[in-house]
Amino acid sequence: MANSAPNPLSPRAALKHYFGYDQFRPGQAEIIDRAIAARDLLVLMPTGGGKSLCYQLPALLAPGVTIVVSPLIALMQDQVAHMVDSGIAATYLNSSLSAAEARSREAALLAGQYKLLYVAPERLLHEGFEPTLSELAHEVGIARLAVDEAHCVSEWGHDFRPEYRQLRTIRQRFKSVPVTALTATATARVQEDIIRQLALEEPYVHVASFHRQNLHYSVRSKPKQLPLEIVRLIREENGGSAIVYCQSRASVDKLAAALQQAGIAALPYHAGMSGEARAANQTAFVRDDAQVMVATIAFGMGIDKPDVRLVIHADLPRNLESYYQESGRAGRDGLPAQCILFFSYGDRSKIEFLIKQKSDPEEQRIARQQLRQTIDYAASLLCRQRVLVGYFGETLERDCGTCDNCLNPVPLEDRTIEAQKFLSCIYRCEQRFGMRYIIDVLRGKSDDRIVRNHHDELSTFGIGKDLTIKQWQALGQALVHQDFTIESTDGYGILTIGDRGMAVLRRELEVKVPQLAPEPEKVAVQRQESETLSEADGELFQHLRKLRKKIADLQAVPPYIIFSDRTLKEMARKQPETLAEFGQLVGVGQKKLNQYGEIFLNALDDFLRRSRVRQPADPTPEAIAPESEFAEPFEGGDSREAAPHPKAQPIVMPEPPEPVAQFIHASETQMETLELHRQGLSVAEIAKARQLKERTIFNHLAQLLAVGERVDIDAIVSAERQRQIFRAIFDVGSYTSLTPIRELLGEEFSFEEIRLVRAVLFGQS
Ligand code: ADP
Ligand code: ZN
Repeated sequence: MANSAPNPLSPRAALKHYFGYDQFRPGQAEIIDRAIAARDLLVLMPTGGGKSLCYQLPALLAPGVTIVVSPLIALMQDQVAHMVDSGIAATYLNSSLSAAEARSREAALLAGQYKLLYVAPERLLHEGFEPTLSELAHEVGIARLAVDEAHCVSEWGHDFRPEYRQLRTIRQRFKSVPVTALTATATARVQEDIIRQLALEEPYVHVASFHRQNLHYSVRSKPKQLPLEIVRLIREENGGSAIVYCQSRASVDKLAAALQQAGIAALPYHAGMSGEARAANQTAFVRDDAQVMVATIAFGMGIDKPDVRLVIHADLPRNLESYYQESGRAGRDGLPAQCILFFSYGDRSKIEFLIKQKSDPEEQRIARQQLRQTIDYAASLLCRQRVLVGYFGETLERDCGTCDNCLNPVPLEDRTIEAQKFLSCIYRCEQRFGMRYIIDVLRGKSDDRIVRNHHDELSTFGIGKDLTIKQWQALGQALVHQDFTIESTDGYGILTIGDRGMAVLRRELEVKVPQLAPEPEKVAVQRQESETLSEADGELFQHLRKLRKKIADLQAVPPYIIFSDRTLKEMARKQPETLAEFGQLVGVGQKKLNQYGEIFLNALDDFLRRSRVRQPADPTPEAIAPESEFAEPFEGGDSREAAPHPKAQPIVMPEPPEPVAQFIHASETQMETLELHRQGLSVAEIAKARQLKERTIFNHLAQLLAVGERVDIDAIVSAERQRQIFRAIFDVGSYTSLTPIRELLGEEFSFEEIRLVRAVLFGQS
């Protein structure tokens, strides 16, 4: 892609071409229009809202390079891998590169070969980088500076980074370069700070709703056998990724072990582990080698896995903002996901104890308030999303309709009389006491303190014996939630009477509270019709997932880089039959279509053919005749074992469960080769022993692989060569003809070697 040539695509066309999407998400089109008009921008969107596209797409349409500042190396690499896989000229510079590699990337950059450059702030600001930057501005042009995770400039954000402050100098140096700042942190304070610190000029500010429609929130009371319950929830996800957050390292280790024992691929992650162990576990999770990450809050900042289907909090989160961010790691791909918080009043006491250990009274007070807000969330009967976005100052127009409280509202009952007793007692105690004291007076407990205060002489003393302490607590909390009474947040929890409470005492307002002694019920999440798959399609989805995993592993990238869950689900539902239809799927752009269209179409075709076979209604022999991927004549293959089915059909993935298996089997001569291979002989040695050509042995091994026999390919072709071959196969995007693949790879690679490696794709996983 030449930098100087203006890109002729419209934003809409570029959206489909590069990203495979038909429509912009709310806000994106407006933001992109402003970006094209070279405005400064401040984009606030929740995690998964689609921020990246807001600078990536304009970068493709503008002359010059867009510089993206990103604080986390892992995220940077992930994003770049994604883009390169979509045919976008992007690269990164960070400390993970060797000096030589960095130099060669800089040279390519100055030659105008990239549209997007990702850098860490340290690198961008480093004086050694200055000449490159100047030359870049001069020779190629800097289209825009995009500052990701822009809340890092603010001390009010949750992740302040001093080097972010200095980005301002870049802004001052390149005055004409417009800036886009992006963040998922929404408080007004942080917003103002970003505009000031980065010196944004009359920015177009886009604040998206923080309501995440695809997330289903629920709160459950913590069962005694929490691990069992978590196992059950994870099994329901059918292999979908999950994160379980625990408060302490010890509970992380314990729970991870319990899940492993239950046969779930779970790994721990916490600050007590070595950096290496953590990185390894994270990679395993991102690559779908582990289904579940059990973690303390140390986990999550560096990952961008879009297909997490379930986030469980086994313990109370530190505060509501953290809860929003942590639970928000679910469903970044926009598909339904669940966020479940397990809550017990015992946890509350544990945290209160921890708060008491803090020495700074100010810190204590803040911690208490945060705890109060978290508990309010857990105990609330309102729509969970309403409470969450309310925390960021946003008011939902209507309830989410998918959280536990929306799906299963707790029935209300009239408790006006009891509320009057309670409020009146607060009043008579001069609004100087906390909930437990008021309840003791109501229930007529004559302990020292009450007697000393002469509160055993009040008219409200002992008028509440008809309710238990627990019931009074539930009522008291409901009165707090509904603003009838106000509980101080200074840590003492002093109850005073609000305006609404006074109205109750004057008999002007009725009080309806949830039936006392409520136990939150379990709620089955109702998934949206369009996103659920029938049982058969679900099976196909799993099949496609396996193929995706294989292709990803072969290229050493996470599976979601190949296709998102959403794309695979749509594939399973729509079952495209042609490349044109395949190209219509969400998330399939031109490059992905070329790379993977054919292999997925064949996998679909093969799967459907076989499932038809399994249904006795359609036992036509044609339906079960397996076509061979070896339809093309072997270059020099010996004639004794010509392709079993010379029909010129595209490849099929001959994973041979019943009843297809009986049609696909290795020939005797192939089995002989296999025998020697298993004894550890090299290809040359086998050829010699059997007095056959080496290429024939290669062909045997390829066929053996394709029919599902285990061949130790690593012993024959080095890992690096395998990777190069796979890259070439996917770049060519065709599996039927070897010639273009060989052309791409060059003379150093033999046809036999390529064919052998290619056969891995068609063998059993
Ligand atoms: P974040 O706002 O957290 O940075 P991303 O930019 O990573 O979110 O986007 C989240 C997901 O949404 C990605 O998988 C992305 O490809 C997808 N996405 C972004 N824009 C669109 C769109 N217009 N249509 C469909 N999916 C989109
Ligand atoms: Zn709701």
